[in-house]
Amino acid sequence: MIAALFKLTTFISYYFLLVRTGEVIVSERQQWSLKQAQALFDQPFFELLFQAQQVHREHFDPQQVQVSTLLSIKTGACPEDCKYCPQSSRYKTGLEKERLMEVEKVIESAHKAKKAGSTRFCMGAAWKNPHERDMPYLEKMVKEVKSLGMETCMTLGMLNPSQAERLAEAGLDYYNHNLDTSPEFYGNIITTRSYQDRLDTLENVRDAGIKVCSGGIVGLGEEIRDRAALLVQLANLPMPPESVPINMLVKVKGTPLENNEEVDPFDFIRTIAVARIMMPKSYVRLSAGREQMNEQTQAMCFMAGANSIFYGCKLLTTPNPGEDKDLQLFRRLGINPQQTKTAFGDKQQQQHLTEAIINNTDNEQFYNAAI
Ligand code: SF4
Repeated sequence: MIAALFKLTTFISYYFLLVRTGEVIVSERQQWSLKQAQALFDQPFFELLFQAQQVHREHFDPQQVQVSTLLSIKTGACPEDCKYCPQSSRYKTGLEKERLMEVEKVIESAHKAKKAGSTRFCMGAAWKNPHERDMPYLEKMVKEVKSLGMETCMTLGMLNPSQAERLAEAGLDYYNHNLDTSPEFYGNIITTRSYQDRLDTLENVRDAGIKVCSGGIVGLGEEIRDRAALLVQLANLPMPPESVPINMLVKVKGTPLENNEEVDPFDFIRTIAVARIMMPKSYVRLSAGREQMNEQTQAMCFMAGANSIFYGCKLLTTPNPGEDKDLQLFRRLGINPQQTKTAFGDKQQQQHLTEAIINNTDNEQFYNAAI
């Protein structure tokens, strides 16, 4: 029995982890231990970067970066207590709360985002979870943004299995729900929903056939061990997330973390590199905090394996996207925004948009979802 177990363990170790001349080569479905993840963090910086680049090039074109646009469809007044978040109703951050956006306005924004080069449109609502009365509006948003030929993503808080299924049926491609940090450090940051709640939502989303977008935040006051533990959680999910946003804390005045220590940019780049190695096929997204990074840090993040970014809503109001500083950086680095195959041609998209707007003019689409 013991011999059989030993053989099995040896086989699993051999299958999942090949060690060659000190270089660790991993298969996509290795189950990661905390020790292994920490060992990656402990490597000399350039060694880590080199490995991350190798893994990245095995699975992706290093010149391609996927671009998503994020639109807040319902801002502020969130009952949760995430200590980093200006949208929590518990902190005085001066953020103006807004009601759920009209469907037409969402489509209009999505259209602009597409024209500006985004291939995925993410809609975020500051909720604990959507209510039943919100669902028809959300389904409509997904259907209509999708009819523009864009990928759709939503982040709405916790989802139960039936809500996940309804959104999947409407055509939702991705659902974002971050784990934020390690299970051990989590209680220091959020007390109103548990780590298990988050894992349950990820499971419901996955079971409904929606792709998972889940990552975390660097700079919450966590140790390197917590960053490693977060990535272990994500990489060891039954299926790793297709998208892994790695955020740098944006210190917002009025939130409990406003005076947190600055994150060393090299530590941030390390986190990107380790995420790339541990989740070789996932898109690693450079997310919140990018505005505070200089171009050199961003370039090193791309080098470490980041291959997805968020354009904020501000791009939607930029008169000349060609002059946008992100696109300028892309040009200087020879990066191409990744194209997605759209379901419709331009003419059809225009027709879909017109139909969508006409069909909705008589409906009441504006109500207070913040209550
Ligand atoms: S659940 Fe989301 S919107 Fe609400 S406080 Fe937490 S991070 Fe902010």
